[in-house]
Amino acid sequence: MLSDLSVPGRPGGRPAGPLPDRPRVLRSRRVVLPDGERAAAVHVADGRITAITAPADVPAGVEITDLGEFALLPGVVDSHVHVNEPGRTEWEGFATATRAAAAGGVTTIIDMPLNAIPPTTSLAALEAKRAVAAGQIAVDVGFWGGIIGADARGLDDLAALHDAGVFGFKAFLAPSGVEEFPHVSLDVLAAASRHTARMGALTVVHAESPAVLEAAPPVLGRVFASWLASRPPAAEQEAVAGLVALSAATGARLHVLHLSAVEALDDVVAARDEGLPFSAETCPHYLTFTAEEVPDGATVFKCAPPIRGRSNLDRLWDALGEGLFAGVVSDHSPSTPEVKQIDTGDFAAAWGGIASVQIGLPAVWTQARARGYSLADVVGWMCAGPAELAGLRGKGRLEVGADADLVVFDPDASFLVRPAMLRHRHPLTPYAGRSLDGVVLATYLRGVRADGDRPPRGRLLERR
Ligand SMILES: [Zn+2]
Repeated sequence: MLSDLSVPGRPGGRPAGPLPDRPRVLRSRRVVLPDGERAAAVHVADGRITAITAPADVPAGVEITDLGEFALLPGVVDSHVHVNEPGRTEWEGFATATRAAAAGGVTTIIDMPLNAIPPTTSLAALEAKRAVAAGQIAVDVGFWGGIIGADARGLDDLAALHDAGVFGFKAFLAPSGVEEFPHVSLDVLAAASRHTARMGALTVVHAESPAVLEAAPPVLGRVFASWLASRPPAAEQEAVAGLVALSAATGARLHVLHLSAVEALDDVVAARDEGLPFSAETCPHYLTFTAEEVPDGATVFKCAPPIRGRSNLDRLWDALGEGLFAGVVSDHSPSTPEVKQIDTGDFAAAWGGIASVQIGLPAVWTQARARGYSLADVVGWMCAGPAELAGLRGKGRLEVGADADLVVFDPDASFLVRPAMLRHRHPLTPYAGRSLDGVVLATYLRGVRADGDRPPRGRLLERR
């Protein structure tokens, strides 16, 4: 059944009346706490969670918002978002990206160091990004720095960015798609990683082997199968194997971004078994779509690494269920319809990136519930996991002292994804027209309602 997004009151233990902008106590039969889901009351003051009590344990006279069977979750932490401002603001900007985030239950994003111009590879560039973001962000925003070299100047830049509070550093092993953010060899990454290891910083990597990609067959216009064949699983497998060796050699904390090919998982498992500081993430689109269903010319599905076959999807879910992934994050990477080649359907020319920051939570929940997973599992993958990866304290968990970043979620309602409801700059997404389970009814940032057109109250975050 399709839910009415504007009226939260429905029969069956649902609250009557609108949800408040500044709740004092939120009570639900389904509060998703770090140790699982149960009935509880979450008390909020001054933007923080001050107590979590039994439902009836609320002082007399304190206003209670009773959510009934609507679930109360921590805000989603999306550590993989491309905002593109300044420089490619026509693709996506801070105002639109964070509005979309808030609408989708995301209360913290960490912005990737590309595709803005300048890329976040120097202190001056980070300051430029912070200056343009300030005052227009509806959720909290942190930043990754970028690794594009390991000469003396490059290493100085990494140190300056680290001191300024970036959450870690991103590198590409294969071409990034934009010329101002060149990829690096494993040797250069090793030199940079020795440096970041000394700082205790996390390095996150786009892991596809350029040698494997160069040897793969070319992309043939509108043919999706040719895009898939041009990014074979071996490219991910070889790159991940190289990164595991690099982590062993340097002691650097390495994290594989947007893992798609299950063939690369064996090396992730081996790294974990060796006790290396090594992790990986995957994304909602790899857990939702299959190559078999992507029509030719549908460049809205283009991303790298690509969406793979049905059996790959099932095995990714198995790995997620086994705890092999540190998180599930959107890799929200929009562009204009022209750059995305919507009209031509040319997979070779189209920008590779999927816009989904607003859709990730229901997309993952839709698949998760069908496979027998719980809301607590989803919160672990999308809230606690990414917060822990980035070292974000006070985020991603409902616990006393944490920021009151809260999501009121109707897990039993479903909705049709319509472009008109999408708040990011260009309403292009492969989820359009799909029915998803789970409706975000309200998003609170530090105790205050943040979704819709409310004044932007997001803060710029620094690693502490
Ligand atoms: Zn990305």
